[in-house]
Amino acid sequence: MSGTAIDLDLYSDTLTMPSRAMREFMCACPVGDEQKGEDPTVNALQERIAAMLGKPAALFMPSATMANQIAIKCHTQPGDEIVADAMSHTLHYEAGGPAFHSGVMVRALSGARGCFTAADVAAVLRPTDSQYMPRTRLVWVENTHNLAGGTVWRLPDLEGVSAFARAHDLAVHLDGARIFNASAASGVPADVYAALADTVTVCFSKGLGCPGGAVLVGPAGLIGRARRYKQLFGGAMRQASGILAGAALYALDHNLGRLAEDHANARRLAEGLAGVPGVTPEDAETNMVYFRVADTDDFHAACLQRGLRFSKQLGNRLRAVTHLDVDAEGIERALAIVREVAGGSPRGSVHPDPRYRDERT
Ligand SMILES: *Cc1c(COP(=O)(O)O)cnc(C)c1O
Repeated sequence: MSGTAIDLDLYSDTLTMPSRAMREFMCACPVGDEQKGEDPTVNALQERIAAMLGKPAALFMPSATMANQIAIKCHTQPGDEIVADAMSHTLHYEAGGPAFHSGVMVRALSGARGCFTAADVAAVLRPTDSQYMPRTRLVWVENTHNLAGGTVWRLPDLEGVSAFARAHDLAVHLDGARIFNASAASGVPADVYAALADTVTVCFSKGLGCPGGAVLVGPAGLIGRARRYKQLFGGAMRQASGILAGAALYALDHNLGRLAEDHANARRLAEGLAGVPGVTPEDAETNMVYFRVADTDDFHAACLQRGLRFSKQLGNRLRAVTHLDVDAEGIERALAIVREVAGGSPRGSVHPDPRYRDERT
């Protein structure tokens, strides 16, 4: 490695590399034509995750973005309205998918910590007998909530939203890309969260460490329609699906139980950052630490030059995400770099490797 390589990468939990053991397991999994429903590994994964979340059916997809978008497609008609927290992933990082694929309107709520209450939904619910207004159809919940700080929904809030939605014939989708992080932090089993929603997205390429893959779980009829949309969206991957589903099965066996380590590392990082002058971290509820510094760009560039990468996020915040490729010792090294940079970083420093200048979320 050159002196400028990124060796402490807290950019995202999507960065994890499939381990050798995961790759070997993937190699050994039997595969078939998933488009025809003949891939035994995909079928095994779908059955397992549906059972884990207490839903009748599951559909494996290339990404959680596709799972979310197909969920919206299944729950709505063009012109319908979905109610979501203003900082939801689906509103910021899915390329306008709700408008593009489903033609829906969005009613954005300014929830606290990315969460909202039944009263917040009640305040924006459209009358069902209006000739003029869009029809409120779907309530969107993200748990853990990425942009709000990796925050976890409080169960009573989610129960309230779910009961309200059911009483008013609204569907509930849970974007649980990191649902297992929520469970690891709160102790609330994933199926308890899932029971409060009609459909749930789970992502395998975040903290679970897979090279890709996600599932949508829900009622059998809806998942049947989702399968058709997956075909329409071009998401059937034939024998590649089984190889990726193998990674997901491996992750459920080996990487689920260790998410608490990521959370402990994030807490350690947040506590350390709180002790650095000029650095203001938010609470670390799960595997993310959002923080502010006086000059985000300078600070970020100076850390990059020392081999430490964060991501720059909306609202002039920096975000560090812990994951299975960073350990407690790595957190100590990251803190040492932050202390050094906070003690006097060269202004206007630009990372010499162009790959790390282009900031993406
Ligand atoms: C990452 C993420 C997604 C999308 O996941 P991909 O598999 O990268 O498409 C959806 N929702 C949330 C909350 C996420 O963090």
